[in-house]
Amino acid sequence: MQRGMTNDRTECLCLSTLDNLNGGRQTGTNSGVPLHNVSILVIIMQSMIILGIETSCDETSAAVVQDGILRSNATAVQLVHSEHGGVVPELASRAHQRLMVPIVEDALRKASVDKKELTAIAAVYGPGLIGSILVGLSFGKAMAQGLGIPFIGVNHMEAHIFSNMIEDPKPSFPFVNLTVSGGHTQLVLVKDYFSCELLGETMDDAAGEAFDKVAKMLGVGYPGGPLIDKLAAKGNAKAVKFPRPYLEEGSLQFSFSGLKTSVLYYLRSIGFDRTAGMNEQFLSDIAASFQAAAVDVLIDKLLTAAKKYGVRDIAVCGGVSANSELRRRLETESKIHHLRLFIPKLDFCTDNGAMVAQVGYERMRKGFVSSLELTAEPDLQLN
Ligand code: ADP
Ligand code: MG
Repeated sequence: MQRGMTNDRTECLCLSTLDNLNGGRQTGTNSGVPLHNVSILVIIMQSMIILGIETSCDETSAAVVQDGILRSNATAVQLVHSEHGGVVPELASRAHQRLMVPIVEDALRKASVDKKELTAIAAVYGPGLIGSILVGLSFGKAMAQGLGIPFIGVNHMEAHIFSNMIEDPKPSFPFVNLTVSGGHTQLVLVKDYFSCELLGETMDDAAGEAFDKVAKMLGVGYPGGPLIDKLAAKGNAKAVKFPRPYLEEGSLQFSFSGLKTSVLYYLRSIGFDRTAGMNEQFLSDIAASFQAAAVDVLIDKLLTAAKKYGVRDIAVCGGVSANSELRRRLETESKIHHLRLFIPKLDFCTDNGAMVAQVGYERMRKGFVSSLELTAEPDLQLN
């Protein structure tokens, strides 16, 4: 039977775990978050049920994880930004405020869990848009306080890595993880649940940001990534040879700003006017050519890191991991290099509460809970 499949399982937090709960000491694996001063010596739980809340950008999401098993995930994608061609922070915060209660209720209802059954509440406290984070974080802390249960602050980048650990099969430690989202591009060596090393990241634009900006240049709409993906499927990836920014030999750093600028210069050089009538084949060729360059770089760096650190498992996560060409190429390359590949199903590529609830569950198991004084950290780092 899988871990946590039954409700009657008895779980104990051992004394070393409870030291953390009890002493309020800081530990290196709790992202510097002060631990809650809880005077409990032994906690025996019938079942551990965690509500996870994600509001770091423009998705309002909540999920319930029970004993490590996902029971529900409810996500509302904010459509209000599409007419502006990008996320408008103030509109995102207001939409989170409107959506927070219905989304949490939806997650609880889908899981058939009453709020009084919750063991703890986890919410993202960074990185992301400060106004957006504050909505989910304040709601999570208030709900935890109201219910008299622990609160767990979650690092959004750590949560993305956990999106490959929501369902089986899961990668084995150590593995190399590539996070490719709208705000981040990071290569991480994941040594254990809360032990990871940042190997490289983008020096300028994130991969998803480059997709969104190229879509904007082409005038195809927002959000750009899925639209470029769709157009590229009908295009010729060899139509224009855009540069592959590998940087120096063996570098695990990324840079997508140059690639984005070369698309812009190319469009200018041929006098492209995005407001004029669209030539579907032309747009598809540019989308496919840009996408091929971005995918080549992402895969090259991931394979370089996997080889350098001698891992057997590689994982990819974040919104861009939904890209069909990236997924196709990863399948092929991982087979060639005898690596086990992990990519989340599409629901868990972009921001979601399930990954937050899963981090909350693992943190709770280890006794890492947060102070209710925890504040939003828009620039929170991974370690
Ligand atoms: P963030 O955490 O930064 O908000 P997400 O993890 O939610 O980012 O991912 C959003 C990003 O993923 C956007 O930049 C979006 O364009 C990109 N994206 C989503 N689907 C695809 C796709 N199929 N191909 C390429 N990029 C995609
Ligand atoms: Mg994200």
